[in-house]
Amino acid sequence: MNPDLRKLIALQDIEKNISVLHKKVSEIPVKTSDLEAAAQRAKAAHEDRVALVRELANRRRTLEGEVELARAKLSRLKEQLMAVKTNKEYTAMLSEIKTAETRIGDEEDKILDLMEELESGENAIKLAETEMRRERAAIDDEIRRMKEDIPALERELDILRGEKTAIEAGVDPELMDHYRRISDARKGIALAEAKDELCCACHIRIRPQMYADLLLTETIMFCDSCSRILFIREES
Ligand SMILES: [Zn+2]
Repeated sequence: MNPDLRKLIALQDIEKNISVLHKKVSEIPVKTSDLEAAAQRAKAAHEDRVALVRELANRRRTLEGEVELARAKLSRLKEQLMAVKTNKEYTAMLSEIKTAETRIGDEEDKILDLMEELESGENAIKLAETEMRRERAAIDDEIRRMKEDIPALERELDILRGEKTAIEAGVDPELMDHYRRISDARKGIALAEAKDELCCACHIRIRPQMYADLLLTETIMFCDSCSRILFIREES
């Protein structure tokens, strides 16, 4: 194989690795802020739950206040009952007392329902708080791990960039220029394996004479269709 071509194959591999590592590093801040956003959403949902329970507690206090007032009214009615003079007044007042007692009973039922609702709400909050602390710790862990990976990734990138520069300096400049132009135009893939008389990148047939030359000579050749530099993979 043409020695420059062998270097370009190595270069393309290095460039692929560089782009993978670079993507990994640049995704870390994005992933970190996605995780933070998820934690914030969970926190907001939890605050809504807490507010709802607080609202239930307020309603309970209001109802309890109303019951207290109704009881005071009831005992006043009962005192007044002693003082009534006529049967008619007595009957009317008894009916008023009955109505007040029924209302108090209804309100107390509502309070009991609210207390049940409150209890299950408070339990749910406790469970959710435990779960949230667990999730928060897991998120912090993941963020810390990702950040800890950065220096090693940067070091690996530095090494690969050094190797890349060394290879670029050792390849014929005109061929290097050509490689760069194709690489820029073809998403970083300037080389294409030629196999079974096909270009493996664009899948277009290679002329038989050209394919024979590729197999037998060290001349650098380009795919007629995608312009990539063709190579025959060596048996390893
Ligand atoms: Zn091609």
